[in-house]
Amino acid sequence: MKKKVNAYNNVLELIGNTPLVKLNKVTEELEGAFYAKVEAFNPGHSSKDRIALHIIEEAEKRGVLSPGDTIIETTSGNTGFSLAMVSIIKGYSCILAVSSKSSKDKIDMLRSLGAKVYVCPAHVSADDKRSYYNVAKRLHEETKGSVYINQYFNQLNVDAHYKSTGPEIWKQTNGAITHLIACSGTGGTISGTAKYLKEQNPNIRILGVDAFGSVLKKYHETGEFDNDEIYPYRIEGLGKNLIPSATDFDIIDKFMKVTDEESAHAAREITRKEGLFVGYTSGAVLQAIKQYADEGEFDVNSVVIAIFPDHGSRYMSKVFSDDWMHEQGFFDSINQEEVQKIEMIK
Ligand code: PMP
Repeated sequence: MKKKVNAYNNVLELIGNTPLVKLNKVTEELEGAFYAKVEAFNPGHSSKDRIALHIIEEAEKRGVLSPGDTIIETTSGNTGFSLAMVSIIKGYSCILAVSSKSSKDKIDMLRSLGAKVYVCPAHVSADDKRSYYNVAKRLHEETKGSVYINQYFNQLNVDAHYKSTGPEIWKQTNGAITHLIACSGTGGTISGTAKYLKEQNPNIRILGVDAFGSVLKKYHETGEFDNDEIYPYRIEGLGKNLIPSATDFDIIDKFMKVTDEESAHAAREITRKEGLFVGYTSGAVLQAIKQYADEGEFDVNSVVIAIFPDHGSRYMSKVFSDDWMHEQGFFDSINQEEVQKIEMIK
């Protein structure tokens, strides 16, 4: 008799079911128990695997996509990586319009996965014809048999997290979760996960993380889109210069803004103290946890689930490069002894 081989049929079967990992050191001075949902355990190393697979499979079900067709998207990198990976297995071409703010590593990675990448200027407004939104739209119009994923304005982005991330967290915590804390970029992660969790227990607090330089927090609080809030910042994937329809502002209880500098140090702190090599926005989440704690958001009974969206290897030329940290002036405020220690290790 033939022996059964225990194996996955392809890499896509590994998407989702990421682990919760207890944070031990980085939150030890705070009241409450803190756990990270480590999305780097997805095969494409980020939460975006979930939406790439879900959106493409929904398009297939609706008969919109046939083999040989083209997937088009705008992306800070992670969604592109996931779409390129899914496209390989399912036999589609993949075209990506990315922001010039994305790291070279990320762009090289997308090209390694066979995607065609267009690099568009980061600091133009969303309605400028050179913006990555408009470049993607134009490519979609020009390419026959193409699907524009449009993650900022696609309800299926939210749906992917409603169907997977939310139920996973509810099950993993046996319903004990009291707070969800997550970055908001497209808003898909926080909105979809929160929708499922609030349906199980409406008392769960939903805490958003936004960047200085982004419009989300002010829009949430006042309903006003304020152009004066917008200025360039370093963190990729967090915050926005437009209002994405994939964000359900009503379901989010509160937003907290974090700085590039504090988030960068927090990402390094998670890595060094927890041994979890996670990306820049995971640092933003930890920084926000500290700020929310300062405001008295948590108590000893709190069970806080933080979503850590991606893997640290994507930021070797940024947050995890001491040279980059120096160039940004992010070491200026730490004491000279610390800087010397870093120099000596080098
Ligand atoms: N972190 C990173 C690194 C990301 O790429 C993104 C997606 N833009 C987010 C956080 C935010 O996730 P969402 O788009 O679901 O709000």
